[in-house]
Amino acid sequence: MDAAPSAGPARKARVSYFYDPDVGQFYYGQGHPMKPHRVRMAHSLVLHYGLHGKLDGYYTPTRATAEDLAAFHSQDYVDFLRTVNPDNMSRYTRELRDFNMYEDCPVFDGLYQYCQIAAGGSLGAAVKLNYQTSDIAINWAGGLHHAKRAEASGFCYVNDIVLAILELLKYHQRVLYLDIDVHHGDGVEEAFLTTDRVMTVSFHKFGNNYFPGTGDLGNMGHGQGRGYSLNVPLRDGITDETYHSLFQPVMAKLMEVYRPEAIVLQCGTDSLAGDRLGVFNLSSKGHAACVEFMKSFGLPLMLLGGGGYKIINVARCWAAETGLAVGADMAEQLPPNEYYDYYGPVGYTLTVQPKAGLDNWNTPPYLDILRNRILQRLSELQGAPGVAFHERAPDGMDLDDIQDVNMAAPGASPQRIWDGELDPEDDPTAAAAEGGRRRADASFRDPRTTKPLSPSMLRPPSASQLAGGSGRGGGGGDPAAPAESAQDTEGTGEGARAGNRSPGWPFGDWI
Ligand SMILES: [Zn+2]
Repeated sequence: MDAAPSAGPARKARVSYFYDPDVGQFYYGQGHPMKPHRVRMAHSLVLHYGLHGKLDGYYTPTRATAEDLAAFHSQDYVDFLRTVNPDNMSRYTRELRDFNMYEDCPVFDGLYQYCQIAAGGSLGAAVKLNYQTSDIAINWAGGLHHAKRAEASGFCYVNDIVLAILELLKYHQRVLYLDIDVHHGDGVEEAFLTTDRVMTVSFHKFGNNYFPGTGDLGNMGHGQGRGYSLNVPLRDGITDETYHSLFQPVMAKLMEVYRPEAIVLQCGTDSLAGDRLGVFNLSSKGHAACVEFMKSFGLPLMLLGGGGYKIINVARCWAAETGLAVGADMAEQLPPNEYYDYYGPVGYTLTVQPKAGLDNWNTPPYLDILRNRILQRLSELQGAPGVAFHERAPDGMDLDDIQDVNMAAPGASPQRIWDGELDPEDDPTAAAAEGGRRRADASFRDPRTTKPLSPSMLRPPSASQLAGGSGRGGGGGDPAAPAESAQDTEGTGEGARAGNRSPGWPFGDWI
């Protein structure tokens, strides 16, 4: 797919990559569609394609602390995540209900460590971009876009994306969040609903009660953030060509108008053809064309994971996008790897192909109307907002840490991302096999995880930090939420739902 964005720098991007070899061992439960093992499979392809040799840095992330997580999440929710486990969960019936930790979001062994790994990688990626020691930073274990301040949702417990964006905002005036998962990026949109410093853009399936039920065109932010949430509601069966007939003009216009200083791209792969929960018909090349288009602007870019429930497709897509980031040519035939047999049904090939004969419900008139309305709205957006950095909050992590080395309204009837149908390909012996493969992975760790970085890259602390600012990753200040009411003027009835939202503003005055 041809991308024709504004010219980016021709030099090769410096790419850092965050991967914790423990991530593949976590297991949501038999039959559950979310399989952290997919990250390990993607990583195996990255290694066997030799992409690690083209990385500028390859890191085991420092796991996020409770304090790091509390930069966005409520303290009682973080405390509960730390406390609950399969053995004691029967004592916490009320909390499990309040925090939505059942069905889609079960309690499993090591849940808190899993959250720490996902968030730690994204925070580390933010710090690498903040210090300008990487042009692109990748964390496939992150991208958990549905998690709320005090609530698990859609297989997500901790919102590593919000945490990473908060970190980026310490050094960047404006951050663009772009979400190409098949589901609406509701948790991130909600967190930044009232600010113009983060523009959230989500391309997703909308309608027929598809999870999470939010994300219509009329949801566009509130108060200071009005106009800075952009939702692109799509129908079933969208193809590469039709997707990009929207994506590229919309994103080109948005980049021109908003002029972000950093981009966070959630690369959920459930938008690919053949996904177990998805309904789109994208090929992995169409998916990667989004990454390529955003990369071409030459801005600090964070690539995160997200949804994706056909694990061989997840692995192939994220491996290919890692290759795209480092500028590698990758053979279509997969290299031998620990999970080679898994790829038999797809002929051991890299590219995820679209499904033939699938109806595309995104008709040309629908796409034309959508494109025109969005472009019109973008043209009316106020110029790029700015902010003075006299009150920068302390860094959430420093480079020394790194070297050691994912909106239903309250009260609404709960929607599920998954119908509860068990995965026919899943069984306990497969689970045991996944766990048993963990050790094999360790031998593939790259020895360069302790690559030294120059202390001169560390910026001096600001005056407010020296005066004793609040802790890592947090910004002090008034946690009170602005009292904004929903004023949607477009769309098809999401206004009432949005009006019930409590965006929350836990971030303090510095944002
Ligand atoms: Zn999804």
